[in-house]
Amino acid sequence: MNILVLGSGGREHTFAWKIAQSSHCENLFVAPGNSGTQSIATNLDISVTDFEAIKNAVIQNNIELVVVGPEDPLVKGIHDYFLNHENLKNVAVIGPQRAAAELEGSKEFAKEFMSRHNIPTAAYQSFTKDNLEQGYRFLESLKAPYVLKADGLAAGKGVLILNDLEEAKAELKNMLIESKFGEASSKVVIEEFLEGIELSCFVLTDGNDYKILPTAKDYKRIGEGDTGLNTGGMGAVSPVPFATDEFLSKIENQIVKPTIEGLKKDNLPYVGFIFIGLIKVGDDPKVIEYNVRMGDPETEVVLPRLKTDLVEIFKAMSNSTLSQVAIDIDERAATTIMLVSGGYPEAYEKGKEITGLEAIEDSIVFHAGAKEVDGKVVTSGGRVMAVTSYGVTYNEAIKKSYQNIAKLDFDKMYYRKDIGFDL
Ligand code: ATP
Repeated sequence: MNILVLGSGGREHTFAWKIAQSSHCENLFVAPGNSGTQSIATNLDISVTDFEAIKNAVIQNNIELVVVGPEDPLVKGIHDYFLNHENLKNVAVIGPQRAAAELEGSKEFAKEFMSRHNIPTAAYQSFTKDNLEQGYRFLESLKAPYVLKADGLAAGKGVLILNDLEEAKAELKNMLIESKFGEASSKVVIEEFLEGIELSCFVLTDGNDYKILPTAKDYKRIGEGDTGLNTGGMGAVSPVPFATDEFLSKIENQIVKPTIEGLKKDNLPYVGFIFIGLIKVGDDPKVIEYNVRMGDPETEVVLPRLKTDLVEIFKAMSNSTLSQVAIDIDERAATTIMLVSGGYPEAYEKGKEITGLEAIEDSIVFHAGAKEVDGKVVTSGGRVMAVTSYGVTYNEAIKKSYQNIAKLDFDKMYYRKDIGFDL
């Protein structure tokens, strides 16, 4: 079959890499893609939210399966758009419809969903500009640190964690009255602070059944020792060492099952990935957030560990036969290290030539903010490429990635030298 992947990051290169290995895949397209996808698929110069252009490309290229990488098109209703067009109705879309995508699109929606279905999460209340005073009173009733979340999508920047009560009140006002995060902060969720270690769990569902993929942990901060500004992610490891069988069964019983049941009870059709951001508080998992797509860079360690044909899984998801598919996982550890443009996550330069790619051995380089210009691969974003390796141990995998990174170069290249330091 002909398949289209939407997106342009390391996540989408990893999807394309895995899909290209399937005997079910005839022609693979990626929109808009990057230099990595260009070497294994046809890149289409189309934005992920230009639904009409996507529709035309799907019809023109006889595409039967569309895999949606990022959240934006899902929250904007790409799946519904396909269902509403006569000549797209039979195209399978991997990613939930708009109503369920609200699990990521609105933090209040997600919190209400969790409280309705008894899914463990931090206590919360939400506020708008009309009840700012009550927001202050709620903050006063909590202990520091204070967690303030813009309700809508804010490119991963909409969460503030503050130690000082007066500062928390000022920021609440900033968000609600001064529109600090635009429309996204016209409503703010204030949450109890949870103390613990974070991990992510990835679930595939056809709306009825589910399969759990390997867990992963990402490294969000720019600086070594988990310091400095938050980024999209500087590296990831899978599996997560502290996720024991006992802990994983708690995640499945207390969180995954009630989530799938909740979607059914609430009549929210869902064919796609659910990314559950978790925190281990004592011995128990609690949900920090839902995302309605895979994570990046977690995809770069989770999919390489999946032995099962991904297109077979996608076909089963869209035919509601996921329960019949066996998911086979590689026992080895996988780690990935992200190379970024110097300056990221603040201002950085683009267009720097990347050298050494041909010398890579025994690692997989997933391109992210990189494109091909006149036969050369150059940087085009903050996160440039992810270097993934397998190992019997984490150390072996991490060592391989660092050995290969030593062969790569571009002006002002930066990466963390301590990925996996805490394992
Ligand atoms: P991202 O897109 O970066 O994953 P987001 O903007 O969707 O994040 P959340 O995942 O809800 O927002 O929160 C961002 C981070 O803030 C979390 O990864 C976690 O480290 C921290 N955090 C969020 N809620 C809490 C909480 N209740 N207690 C402690 N830490 C929290």
